[in-house]
Order: sequence, then structure tokens, then C-alpha cells
Amino acid sequence: MQNSVMKAWWDSSHMAGGNAAYIEELYEAYLEDPQSIPENWKSIFDELPSIEGVAVETNHTSIREEFKKMASLGPAARVGSAGIAPSDAPSDERQVKVLQLINAYRFRGHQHANLDPLGLWQQPRVRDLELSHHNLTESDFETMFNLGSYAVDAEKMKLGDLFKSLNRTYCGSIGSEYMHITDTEQKRWLQQRIESVEARPVIERDEKIKILKGLIAADGMEKYLGSKFTGAKRFSLEGGDALIPMLKGLISEAGAKGAKEVVLGMAHRGRLNVLVNVLGKNPSVLFDEFAGKHDDTLGAGDVKYHAGFSSDFATPGGNVHLALAFNPSHLEIVNPVVMGSVRARLMRRKCKDGSAVLPITIHGDSAIAGQGVVQETFNMSQTRGFSVGGTVRIVINNQVGFTTSKTEDTRSTQYCTDIAKMVQAPIFHVNADDPEAVLFVTKLALDYRNLFKKDVVIDLVCYRRHGHNEADEPNATQPLMYQKIKKHPVPREIYANQLMAEGSIEKHEVERLMSEYRSALDHGACVVEEWRPMTEHSVDWSPYLGHDWDVKYDASLSNDELVSLGRALTTIPESHRLQSRVKKLYADRVSMIEGERLLDWGMAENLAYAAILKEGTHIRLTGQDSGRGTFFHRHAVLHGQDAGEEYMPLRHIADEQGNIEIYDSVLSEEAVMAFEYGYATAEPATMTIWEAQFGDFANGAQVVFDQFLSSGEAKWGRLCGLTVLLPHGYEGQGPEHSSARLERFLQLCADHNWQVCVPSTPAQVYNMLRRQSVRPMRRPLIVMSPKSLLRHPLAVSSLDELASGVFHNVIDELDELETKNIKRVVMCSGKVYYDLLDQRRKNEQTDVAIIRIEQLYPFPSEEMAKVVEKYQHVKDWVWCQEEPQNQGAWYCSQHHFWQSVPDDAKLSYAGRLASASPAVGYVSVHNQQQKALVEDALTIK
Ligand code: AMP
Repeated sequence: MQNSVMKAWWDSSHMAGGNAAYIEELYEAYLEDPQSIPENWKSIFDELPSIEGVAVETNHTSIREEFKKMASLGPAARVGSAGIAPSDAPSDERQVKVLQLINAYRFRGHQHANLDPLGLWQQPRVRDLELSHHNLTESDFETMFNLGSYAVDAEKMKLGDLFKSLNRTYCGSIGSEYMHITDTEQKRWLQQRIESVEARPVIERDEKIKILKGLIAADGMEKYLGSKFTGAKRFSLEGGDALIPMLKGLISEAGAKGAKEVVLGMAHRGRLNVLVNVLGKNPSVLFDEFAGKHDDTLGAGDVKYHAGFSSDFATPGGNVHLALAFNPSHLEIVNPVVMGSVRARLMRRKCKDGSAVLPITIHGDSAIAGQGVVQETFNMSQTRGFSVGGTVRIVINNQVGFTTSKTEDTRSTQYCTDIAKMVQAPIFHVNADDPEAVLFVTKLALDYRNLFKKDVVIDLVCYRRHGHNEADEPNATQPLMYQKIKKHPVPREIYANQLMAEGSIEKHEVERLMSEYRSALDHGACVVEEWRPMTEHSVDWSPYLGHDWDVKYDASLSNDELVSLGRALTTIPESHRLQSRVKKLYADRVSMIEGERLLDWGMAENLAYAAILKEGTHIRLTGQDSGRGTFFHRHAVLHGQDAGEEYMPLRHIADEQGNIEIYDSVLSEEAVMAFEYGYATAEPATMTIWEAQFGDFANGAQVVFDQFLSSGEAKWGRLCGLTVLLPHGYEGQGPEHSSARLERFLQLCADHNWQVCVPSTPAQVYNMLRRQSVRPMRRPLIVMSPKSLLRHPLAVSSLDELASGVFHNVIDELDELETKNIKRVVMCSGKVYYDLLDQRRKNEQTDVAIIRIEQLYPFPSEEMAKVVEKYQHVKDWVWCQEEPQNQGAWYCSQHHFWQSVPDDAKLSYAGRLASASPAVGYVSVHNQQQKALVEDALTIK
């Protein structure tokens, strides 16, 4: 590539960016036509070293070195090195300066753009944009200059015309930031699109009328709500009205370019407006919500400005399905949810390049700069497991974050969008009072996303006509801004005046459009012309509706079927040389499947996935280290030791099988969990699993557990079958890796919102995963998964136990003890069972029975009652746990234990004392504590 030389040099240059860019320009022009550049620069490039047989542009290192040398010598030496003094060639020097001026506008024009509708922004003086900075003056205005790569329809231009053109292109209503992109193709493409029309294409009258209608709708809707429900919170869009024609234009264009679905995520500002004016929600339904009426089908419900909605939308390319995601008050968290939902839809449509489904996320200016989950989503955006072909991100930049408007209080960057530069996304700042400019950047952003499969940001610079909500008094905190806003005409008025002035519309037509919109609202019927009833969504949830966790299902398989799955799992191509420990592990798996030894955890878990895939169900498993397993137990992704290539035995189970994706995730919990929530709520037919590296890291995703996973069905009626694997167990590893904080999950349990399981055997993990897939209920499954049990000699299972297909919510005592001799029953969950069993056997005790509760929620009362029946004579019952008393299941599940034990029995606690820290740091203290709690549980007083 021609640009690679300059790019390499650029990456290592000590010179200022502006200089580098203009040399890059020159060099490119030189490569295309050596005669097209000034003679002094031509001589410099002619002198660059060349290697015989290698085109000069591929000789990166030597050219880079040459430029580095020149950079370190300084400008005088650079010119001198070619033997050309400025005085020798004054006109050439000016040509260079002109190219430099063009680059200055490309780099920094946005800093002088007219972006703030209120005109309050105090823009810094940018000397690079002044002629004098480049040793040019107005007296040069009549001189013709080469334009380099400036993408207007001319090769030369008078400086005066060029200067005007640059100002129109880069300092009008659009501030384009893209020169941070290192890929020259992308930069050139953007320059072509922006410069060729001076950032303002010709817009047909029809389109102008559509824009006006959008603004009338945006304004009309808020005014209507404001007069009917005065003072009620609606988080008005007013000031950012351009969002409505912008979104409609974006969806329409996306449909025309082949998108079949659009998934939107947005916070509360403007949401009601988008619901009614873009998604076509019936205004009468919204008015009922304002009046306090509610839909009983959605359980506890949520406030109206968090509501999601689905519909279809007619576009020139056919109908497009729209889904607005439900959103909690935690503004930016919806972004990864949208991305996950889009990824699921893309997979369903077998679309690998992202073209079939478009994600649009709408951000607030304070939130996009303030909340870390935004960075996480940018980081995920180009990764294998999480990419969605780019997201169009729109910032409703009303320049106020609740009450905070001073940028020194809200961020440390010039723009709220600077975070997007981490993935070199182009950023278009645009004045929201110029809706034609808004539409221009919107189409540009969409085309960029579709072509380069990358995120792109539109910063819609607007204002907020009212306070944070309509009951708020903004003058208390932003007096100057609100004095200005009060006098500022609404966007509809500004644009209508513009169209009337240019003769595109008559006043009476504007008035007619306004009154038509108002009477449509009066009738309460859908106000979106493009609205269509939903037919384009690609999934049917009805098989999963109305089932509870105890619905009957059959997950049994014959032993032969399991053996054949096991053989497929352990057949690795000879050419794929395994690492020696992994090889041994796979050899062990062969002997397990051939009946020579019992199955361990890793084999049982892999068999569960194989069985699920064989049935045609897809699987998606992500998390930190989940291909291998944090504790070296899973090895579902095998890395060849010769070429490092990956082989996944689970992809070779049968000719016809479900797809499986396993990805080691980016190092995040919050965005990744939210992504998987989004995936699972959009795709019931895929077994979706997220695994924490250690269970306690899950609290990095606390918002996702609280706002979505535990309560999404109750608030929004959205089912979600996500499985969450959280390694948990007290093994002396200290406060950070012992506890997955079981108590937190139990505390959030109600209304059968999710299941909390602690499987203790390989057969149990197999059957728990099978149940989650086969049973037609879709609710989250929270699993305390093991660490040391992965290799515990007693934690093994037979093929028969797997084949039964039954997950036991309660496991009764398995040793052959005489029931009548039992004097105490110990109830427990998880790994401590093996410590109790081991010690009781050592003690040769026959008077203590141990019952395992493998599903703590929903509490299996009936199965428990059946088990407890035979111990009715026992009056001494104990709950034993490894966790400190204020943690684990003791406080949150005690009422279930009490209900289970015989009426006149006593129930006591054997476990660690309450503690602020989840575990002690010293192994010796841990061991003492563990010994004591086991003894306590087994000792009948
Ligand atoms: P969407 O494709 O997200 O617009 O969803 C289309 C329709 O499917 C919605 O209107 C719901 O009726 C239904 N639906 C979508 N997601 C879920 C879910 N997670 N749980 C239950 N129903 C859903």
C-alpha cells in the first residue's frame, strides 16, 4: 500500500502531527505523480534510499529512518538536506503551506465549527487555522494552488476559494474528527465523502419536508404532553428535537442498504418521544400510562420512560424490525445489552458481517464520558466474540449532566466523545439546530459503519429546554444557559423559517402539518407513517412462556448415546499435537468413556455440551479463560502445539449439530455479562453461559445482576435463560477467591425469578446444564461452581448417573446408614459435603446423616419433604456451611430449612463466625476453621 511508508514513519515520528500529515500528503502525491509536487520536496523524496527490485513505497524501514533523521535535525536542516533554501523557491514554499493549511483544517477545523445552538461554547483560538500561521496572507488569495488530496472536484484552486471551502467544510455545523484514524483508506474515504460536498449535500424537497415533519412531531409531542400532564416527568427531548428525523432517516437508510432489524438502546431523555414518533407506540397507551393505568401482564412493571417496544418500520428496502431495549436508570449499561441482542440476531440470521442488524445506542454527554462500561463496549467492539459489525452511537449532548454543566466537573477531555478515539472511531459533532447537517452525518456514519464494520459516533450538540425533568428548576444551577434557552426558538421554528425563506414550503402548509400532527395525537392512534405490524422479527418466544421451574421434561439419553458422544469428544486429529498435560487429560477422558474409570467434572460438563449440541441446540460460552477453564479442567478449545491453531472437539459431535461458540472474553465482567444478558434475552434457543474467572469477580457486574438478571422478567416480562458459572469454595486462597457471595444471589430471590444451584457431582453438573437447555423454561441459572472438586477423588460419577437425565435438587444420605440410628442430620451444599463425609468416615460415625441441598432456590420443598420423612425421629438438625455466618445460605435460606425440619426439632448452625471479610488470608487459620466447623457439625452434644 502506498501509504504504508508514511504511516510507519508517522507512527514513530518526533515531528508535530500537522507536519507529518502534510508530508504524508506530499509523499502520496509524489508516488502518484512526482511532477505534481514542489521541486524541493520532489528532490527530498528522490533522494530516499531505494532497494533494487523493491518498490520505494514498500521500503518502510529505510524511509522511516530517513524521515526520523530529518525530524531530529529540525526544519532548517530538512530543507537544507535537499539543498533548497526557502528563499530559493518562495512559490513552492507557499504551495507546501497551502497543503499544510488543508491538513490543519482536517485536524482541527472542528474546534472552530459552529456546534453549539446556544452559542455559549467558548472555543479556543486555533492558530493552525489562521493564514498567518502558515505564512500566507489574503494577498495570496488570487493565486492558484494544487489541492493535494483535498477531495473537491478540482485539482487547483485560488487560495481565497480554498479558504472559504475549508471553512464551509470543517467549520460549519459539523465538526469532523477523523484524523486520529491511522488507516489511510478510511481517512481517504471520509475525506472524499465530506470534502466533495463541503459537508452539505443537496437535499431534495421531499426529504426536507420529512425532516420538518420529524421536528413538528418531536416538538408537538412534548408540547402535547406538557399541556395535558403538566409537571409530570417525561424527560423531554426539547432542544434535541433533531433526534427524531435523524433516527427515522437512519432506519430508513439502513433498511435501504439491507438491514432487516435495528436494535436501539437509549436512556430516559427523549425516550417517550422516540417510542411514539419513531417506533409507533400508540399515543393513547402512553397517555393511559401517564394517567396511572397499567398493564397487568407485566408483573411489577416499570416507569414509562424505561419501557422497551417493538414494531416494524417500512423502508425503501422493505420492512425493518425495530426493538427498543428496556432500560434501567443506569444509563450506559444498556449498550452492551443491545450489542448482545444484535449478536444473537446476527447469528440467527447467519449474518457474519453485521449487515442484517444495526445497533444504535443513544448516550448522554455526561454518561458517555463518565461511565466505564462505555469504554468496555468500545474495547469489545472489534473482538471475535463480541463484535457486531459496528454500532452507530448517538450522543444527545445537552451540555448539562443533571445539574452539572461545567466541563471541569464532568470530564477531563475537550469533548464528551473522546473515549471513542480508543478504537479510532470517527466522531461527528453536529449542531442540532441544523437538521440537514444532522441527516448528512447520520448517513455518512451509517455508510462508514457498513463499510468498515466499526463503531462511529455522532455528537448531537443541543440543549435541554427544561430541567433534568419537568418538575426541576434549571435556573437554580444554570441561570445563564437558561436565560438563553428561554429566548431561543425551537428547532421546528428555525427549520420551518429556513424552508419558507428558501421557498420550499408555504407558511399555511407548515401550519397544516402542525395541526394534522396535533389532531393525530388527539385521536390517540399511531403517528408514524412508516409503522407496520410486527412480522419481521425472527424468533418465537411462545414455547417458553408460562412455564415454571418444575415443568416436566425429558433429558435422558442411553448409555450408548453418551459413549458415542464421548468418543466424538475425545477424537482429536493426529495432526493436532496436544500439550502433554492436556494429552494426558484427554487420555483419561478416553478411559472414562470406555468404562475404565468414573467420570470427572470436566468430562461430564463437556458431555453435557455435546448432548445439547447433538439435539441441534446452539451453545455460547464466554468468560475469562473459559475455553480452557480457569482451573485447567474444561479444555473445550485445544491449542495445537505446532502451529497454535485451535481445535474444538465440540464442533465435531455429529454431521448435523448445533453451533458452539466459546470465547475467552475481554477482561471485564460488567459489559460482558450485560452482553450475554442481551444475547440470552434475544435468543431462547441458544444455551448461553457466562463464566466468571473467580466467582467474586461477578460483583464487577452487580448492575447487571440487580437491574437485569434478577428483575428483568418482573419489570418487563423479558425472559432470560442465561447460565452464570461462579467458581466458589473455601480452599484457603484468601479473601478474594473463596466466595462467589452466594448470599447476594439468595437475597435477590423472589417470585421464582432465577435458580441458584450448587451442584456437587459431575452427574449433577451434567444434568443441571441439560435441564437448563431441555426444559422449556427460560430463567437465569446462578451456579456456585467448584474449584477443588474438579479433581476431588470422591467427586466422580458413572455414565448411568448422567444417562438418567435427572438433576437432583436434594441428595439424601448415600452411605448405608441405619436410619433408626441417626441422631443428627446435617444439611449442607457444595464442597463442604466431602469434608463432612471424609471426617465422618474417619470417625466411623453412623449416627449422623448428611443431606445435600443442590438447588437452594427455588427451594425444593417437596423433594426435601420426601427426604426428611424418614428422619422424623431426629430432633437435632444442623445447617453446615463454609462461609462466615453472615454470608452463605444461613441467613437467606434459613426459613426454608426451618420449614423442612420436623416440627419439634432444633436447628443449629455449624460454620465460621460472622466476618467482615469473606475469608481469612492465612492458610493455617483457614485449616483450623474448616476443621472446627466440620467437627462442630458432626459432634452430637
Ligand atoms: P424483539 O425482537 O426484541 O423486538 O421481540 C419481539 C417480540 O418477541 C416482543 O414484542 C415480545 O413479545 C417477544 N420477546 C422478545 N424478547 C423476549 C423475551 N426475552 N422474553 C419474552 N418475550 C420476548
